[in-house]
Amino acid sequence: MSPTPHIVIVGAGFGGLTLAKALRDDPVQVTLIDRHNFHTFQPLLYQVATAGLEAESIAHAVRGIFHGQLNIDVRLGTVVGVDLDGRLLHVADGRPIPYDHLVLAAGAVTASFGIPGVDEHGFGLKSLEDAITLRSHVLRQFELTDADPSLADAGSLNVVIVGGGSTGVELAGALAELFSRVLAKDHPHLDLSRARIVLVEAGDRLLPAFDARLGAHARRVLEARGVDVRTGLTVDRVTGTAVHLAGGEELATGTLVWAAGVRASPLGAVFGVDTDRAGRVIVGPDLRVPGRPEVWVIGDLAAVTGITKPLPQVAPVAIQQAHFIARQLRRVRDGRPGGVFRYRDKGSMATIGRDDAVAELPFGLRFTGRVGWVMWLGLHLIELVGFRNRASVLVDWAWNYVTWDRGARIIVTPPAHAAGPAPPA
Ligand SMILES: Cc1cc2nc3c(=O)[nH]c(=O)nc-3n(C[C@H](O)[C@H](O)[C@H](O)COP(=O)(O)OP(=O)(O)OC[C@H]3O[C@@H](n4cnc5c(N)ncnc54)[C@H](O)[C@@H]3O)c2cc1C
Repeated sequence: MSPTPHIVIVGAGFGGLTLAKALRDDPVQVTLIDRHNFHTFQPLLYQVATAGLEAESIAHAVRGIFHGQLNIDVRLGTVVGVDLDGRLLHVADGRPIPYDHLVLAAGAVTASFGIPGVDEHGFGLKSLEDAITLRSHVLRQFELTDADPSLADAGSLNVVIVGGGSTGVELAGALAELFSRVLAKDHPHLDLSRARIVLVEAGDRLLPAFDARLGAHARRVLEARGVDVRTGLTVDRVTGTAVHLAGGEELATGTLVWAAGVRASPLGAVFGVDTDRAGRVIVGPDLRVPGRPEVWVIGDLAAVTGITKPLPQVAPVAIQQAHFIARQLRRVRDGRPGGVFRYRDKGSMATIGRDDAVAELPFGLRFTGRVGWVMWLGLHLIELVGFRNRASVLVDWAWNYVTWDRGARIIVTPPAHAAGPAPPA
């Protein structure tokens, strides 16, 4: 190993960013590589998709985060392979990067589970591009239908969201507000009763990761706000104009949002290391790849073995694992024995829309309604990266709350090849 160990981190998401910051004062050289030049605050993607926030409010340039940190080199690049024996990382369009320690924090991607038509016609919500594309598509459906109201007969204004976890619930609630409070005024000649929002969940209730009472609360609130919640139903296939449910029912729709699952970044398979069925790299309880003590994996990409309960794919896991690795690297440096990672679950929250959210905290504490919502707002503001983002989100939220408006309803991407009537040539 070189005198100053070179720590290479792949991914500037929650895990990679936290680790790079945690190593700020350590005698190491860090290289942080991401295929984007910005960090995305994924928990607020649905607000970009529903015109509540500008894209820039939930993204932060990675280089800007490390101003003043002298031991880091930020690189824009897509990692495409590795020479594990030679300790060289391969980046598209760049020289191989040597490393002493490699930390993989490349996250997850949308998974369609091979259901026919989802990849071609559905919209995911995993990246900033996804959110902007979805927003543009929904707004364009309204524009097209305004010009030709007969398109509503084929369901052009309908949105079907598949997946009743936090993402599906948050998106459904925000879309209901967008439709009833904003697009109804933008399109006074459209019959908005023809714009249905349907939330389809395979399990028997919403928010399966939360207490059943919170899932029931979310359902009641969404239904009161006009969302058609359908549980116990699975999707068979998707076409350009409809979602076909197992059992034969057909939901005509102009937009299908796939919020039913993710799988790990394909990096594990590319690296040729062992992965689980969801593509996550198998690591020991010390987060190292077996037989490769210099390769560590964290966050959504890691399948930690040797622990009692599987870890959820949420930001606090990635963040806590990043801090754990920073400590482990110091132990390696000092020749001390390593430890094992233990996750401290500090609770979960999901917003259902204006003035309502569910929060489940340790010791059985549960909150709903406005109290949960204020907690949710506060936590997300604190966790956003950068003062400018916090300030702009706070201003946008205050504006949206007071005026019921959504300033960011801008169509910026060309028509997507997805469900819904094709735009005129
Ligand atoms: C819509 C949505 C809502 C969510 N809401 C919540 C929530 O409310 N609370 C919560 O705790 N969690 C939430 N999550 C989950 C949370 O965002 C993830 O668990 C967390 O981001 C995982 O962190 P990570 O560091 O593993 O990966 P990520 O944060 O996903 O970062 C991975 C990084 O790796 C980069 N990358 C990937 N492949 C390559 C490559 N080949 N080369 C270079 N760079 C690469 C990506 O560009 C990305 O920047 C949500 C996720 C989504 C999608």
